[in-house]
Parts: sequence; structure tokens; C-alpha cells
Amino acid sequence: MIIVGGGIAGASLGAEISAKRRTLIIEGESHCGYHSTGRSAAFYLESYGGADVAKLTTASRAFLMSPPPEFSDRGFLRMRGDLHIARGALPELPPSIDSRLVERAELEHLIPGIKPEWRRALFEPGCADIDVAGLHAAYLSRFRRSGGTVSTDARLRTGSRSKDKWELSLEDGTLLTAPILVNAAGAWADNVALACGVAALGVAPKRRTMVQLRVGRGGLKDLPLVDDADGTFYFKGEGEHTIWLSPHDEIPTDPCDAAPEEIDIAIAIDRFQSVVDWPIERVERSWAGLRSFAPDRLPVYGFDPDVPGFFWCAGQGGFGIQTSPAAAKSAAALLLGEAPDAMLAGVDPGAFSPRRFSRS
Ligand SMILES: Cc1cc2nc3c(=O)[nH]c(=O)nc-3n(C[C@H](O)[C@H](O)[C@H](O)COP(=O)(O)OP(=O)(O)OC[C@H]3O[C@@H](n4cnc5c(N)ncnc54)[C@H](O)[C@@H]3O)c2cc1C
Repeated sequence: MIIVGGGIAGASLGAEISAKRRTLIIEGESHCGYHSTGRSAAFYLESYGGADVAKLTTASRAFLMSPPPEFSDRGFLRMRGDLHIARGALPELPPSIDSRLVERAELEHLIPGIKPEWRRALFEPGCADIDVAGLHAAYLSRFRRSGGTVSTDARLRTGSRSKDKWELSLEDGTLLTAPILVNAAGAWADNVALACGVAALGVAPKRRTMVQLRVGRGGLKDLPLVDDADGTFYFKGEGEHTIWLSPHDEIPTDPCDAAPEEIDIAIAIDRFQSVVDWPIERVERSWAGLRSFAPDRLPVYGFDPDVPGFFWCAGQGGFGIQTSPAAAKSAAALLLGEAPDAMLAGVDPGAFSPRRFSRS
């Protein structure tokens, strides 16, 4: 099997199958994780993405918290908690998510300097930081240990189906063949499909901006993730005096090496200043990445209904890291024609099938 893309999607799926099938990951960049996987906000938030995504996130929790010893000798989560703050109505969380109401007095204690209009919050204790680099590296390491090969600087140019196999041509002129092609190309998923003569699904990349801000206040490292009920910003403590902040932007773009725009950094800071009275000292760094969504904002895992041997592993939006353990196991079961892992009880893989899209 050939997997296009060595981000968390390709690496985690590869790790689940490489002991059973000869598998090659081709990654167009000089290292895996250069795009979305290396640019995330690195949190695990079960309420994020709606009820179907929440099932994948929750199913991944035990693995992320205490992975099997042969995978990693330590877990990938560090508990932080999330305060969903509100001026008016509180957000509605999926019923399965543990949360409690926080009134203004406690909110002032949890976020000293919070402005008076933020009246209350829902606290979601299960929110955690994810060690994304560690998780991605562990998946790549397991992939290789089980016999998989990673080729970097190996960009797919075109593919065609001939009899029962794919014939692939890379940008450097290399030719490859394989019976099954897995499309884990992130923001380029539709482009890869089109380059292989497969109809696109409408997986759309959207840019999101992150800012590391130094502020004139200490003790921030363990600050909860703070977001608003209207979905216009989030921030979390990074160092003692620094936070990671996002304006929660979602700007449609072509697939590219995304970079932050000054205006989005300014919007982020403006929204942050509407929450707390902390003096802003400087922007230490900023970055942007692409979150890619299918039209219904659910991920796509499964064989293309029209073209044999073409498997979709795309549309992971803003939840591709936190769902990766369960998503990879679910996709691997579909790919290998095996029964789903026990971890997936309660997850319906049909919800993520490419068959749900009409392409007439
Ligand atoms: C700012 C930001 C914050 C986020 N925060 C979170 C978070 O807190 N929690 C969370 O779970 N998720 C978060 N996400 C989402 C998460 O990062 C993504 O869902 C996930 O990284 C997608 O992984 P991927 O492997 O599909 O994509 P990528 O990591 O982009 O990997 C796709 C790879 O395919 C390669 N490729 C493309 N075309 C070709 C080709 N033709 N040939 C060879 N290789 C090719 C690319 O070079 C790329 O490396 C965030 C994303 C962003 C941008």
C-alpha cells in the first residue's frame, strides 16, 4: 500500500497496517509533520466538533492517556481543563461530555483580571494538552519498526489505475506501483484525488492563525484553555508569562504553506483584550496552518465508491490529532477488511464513509 502524506493521519494509519501489509508513506516535504500536524494548538477537547467527532475523540482518550507500553512508555496528555466563558447564553455541549457551571466569583478566581461582562462559564475538566510531536514520532517509529518505509521529498504528481494496481509518478520522476493508494494528503486531499483521476469530495482547506503572546502577568502556565461560547477566540497558558492565542479564524484558501496575516494577529489581540485586563508586552511568534473540512465537517475514511483501490483518509479539520488513535484503528479495519478494534465500540464508521457524498 502507498500512503500519500506523512502527517498524523498518514503516520497513524500506517502504524496500524504496516505489520500486515508492505506499506510506503510518500511525503512531499523534507520531513513529515511540516504542515497541519506541526502547527496545531495541541489540545484534546472532547466537546469539539459535534457528536460524531466527539465519539472518535472520547474513544481515543485511554490510548492517549496511557498507551500500550510497546507504543510508548509515557502518555501524551497533560490535563488542563477548558473554561467556555459566556457573556450571555452558555454553549451546548454534547450530553456525554462532563462539565460544570462556573459562576462569576469562581471565574474571577480562575482568570484573575477577567472583564465584568463575562458572567459565567462551563468548565470542561477533561480538556488536556497533547504532546503532538511525541505522538506523531511514536506513530512513525511504530510504522518503521513494523516494516513500513517513509520516503520524504517524494511528492506524488499523477496516478492512474491499470488493471488491479496504481501506477504512480512522483515529481522527481520515480515510478511506483501498488494495489491500494491511501489519500492522507491533508489540505491537498482533493488535489491528490484529481491527480489520480478520482472525483474530488470538496475537502476545503481553511487557514487558522496562532499567536504566542507575552503579557505582563505571571503564573499563566497552567491556565485552563479559555474559549467563548460564540467561537471567536481561544487562548491557553504556554509559559509563566506567555499564552497561545487564536482568533478562531477559518479563512478559505488554496492548499499552501500557510502564513499568518497581520490583520488576523491584530484581531486575535483585540478579542483577547476584550476578555482580560492583562497588559500585552509583545508578540513572540505567530504561525498559521490549514484545517481541512469535508462539506459536512466530518472526516472521510473509506474506499472511494467509484474507483477501486483508492482509500480516503482526509477532512480531519481541527480534530485530527485528538481523534488519531481511534480514527487510525477504524480506517485500518476498513482498509484491511477486519473487525473493528474494541476501542471503537460506539463509533459508527458509516458516518465517515465517502459514500455519504453524492457526486452525480
Ligand atoms: C492552527 C491549528 C490548530 C489546530 N489545533 C488542533 C488541536 O488543538 N487538536 C487537534 O486534534 N487538531 C488540531 N488541529 C488540526 C490538526 O492539526 C489536523 O487535523 C491534522 O494535523 C491533520 O493531519 P493530516 O495528516 O491530515 O495533515 P498534514 O499534517 O497537513 O499532513 C498531510 C501531508 O500530506 C503531504 N502531501 C500533500 N500532498 C502530497 C503529495 N502530492 N505527495 C506527497 N505528500 C503530499 C503534505 O506535505 C503533508 O505533510 C489544528 C490545526 C491548525 C492548523
